[in-house]
Amino acid sequence: MSFFKAIRIDQRAETCDARYVDMAEEELMPGDVDLAVTHSAINYKDGLAVTGKGAVVRRFPMIPGVDLAGRVTRSTHPDFSEGDLVVATGCGVGEAHYGGFAERARLSGDWLVKLPGTLTPARAMTVGTAGLTAMFCLLALERHGLAPTDGTAVVSGASGGVGSFAVALLAAAGWRVAAITGHPAEAEYLTSLGAAEILAREAFAQPGKPLQSQRFAAGVDTVGGVTLANILAQTQFDGAVAATGNVGGMDLPASVAPFILRGVALLGVESVRPRIALRRAAWARIATDLDAALIDAMCEMIPFDQALERARAIVTGKIRGRVVIEMT
Ligand code: NDP
Repeated sequence: MSFFKAIRIDQRAETCDARYVDMAEEELMPGDVDLAVTHSAINYKDGLAVTGKGAVVRRFPMIPGVDLAGRVTRSTHPDFSEGDLVVATGCGVGEAHYGGFAERARLSGDWLVKLPGTLTPARAMTVGTAGLTAMFCLLALERHGLAPTDGTAVVSGASGGVGSFAVALLAAAGWRVAAITGHPAEAEYLTSLGAAEILAREAFAQPGKPLQSQRFAAGVDTVGGVTLANILAQTQFDGAVAATGNVGGMDLPASVAPFILRGVALLGVESVRPRIALRRAAWARIATDLDAALIDAMCEMIPFDQALERARAIVTGKIRGRVVIEMT
């Protein structure tokens, strides 16, 4: 029998129930592809899972870790062969199916994407769900027909995971990017990612008029609430905003005026469902558009034995950038 090390949560608990265990490969959940996990990453969702603070985990026991990358060791799926380097994000991994905080994984091949040549597993995990979500937003804006020549693209929550990648990806695609941040100290970091203009979060935090001066052709919003309402009110004729987050609230206290008087579109973006063709397109674009040195600058690499402690820390805001777990 072959054993591997994993972080396992055995039951829902107010106090953390997550711990390192040795598991047998026979205990893995069903799937048509086996992986030696080489890297995972710590997301906020994983922090909620290991601390029992959020209803992230949908079955027990569970191996958390919503992002993972690794090498295929066995496959009966037509798209994958032994030795392929692959990435999985979302699709219920780490929530309903055993995830990336383990040396081994067994998944459905329908959730996997082969890593494009230039993207290493470590870089794919630095990008992770946050970067993939940002790329989904850019692709949604492009599908809407928008291009850098239309004007400025605004990003809210810009210094966060999704926001930083949105700034970098929009800038790499040729957009002039305005970054909204509540952390003035992050201005230099955002400029290094490609932001041309830094805007104060407070300027978007108070309810405003339904239609305001037209400043933006496109937007990526990770905040929701009043911030999203103000961004919509400042979006120009035929512009669009990709909405993907709610750190500022679940509500949307907006008017229909931008939609019916300026033809503004609100594009919803979610990153959890499989939609494999879209995932492949997104990873391919990430590999060609994002500079490897820029990805590396966002990465803090840790060994697996520090993963649990760091996952607990993310819910108290003690992590900046992307913390990538190296399994071996
Ligand atoms: P982070 O915590 O990394 O970043 C969020 C950023 O938002 C912060 O860094 C901060 O940036 C800003 N912010 C924080 N609190 C507030 C506030 N009260 N009002 C306004 N701005 C605030 O989160 P992520 O980037 O990982 O995720 C962002 C959002 O996207 C979350 O709501 C997350 O749930 C969602 N998400 C959705 C996905 C989907 O599939 N739809 C997938 C991934 C994430 P700054 O200081 O620069 O303003």
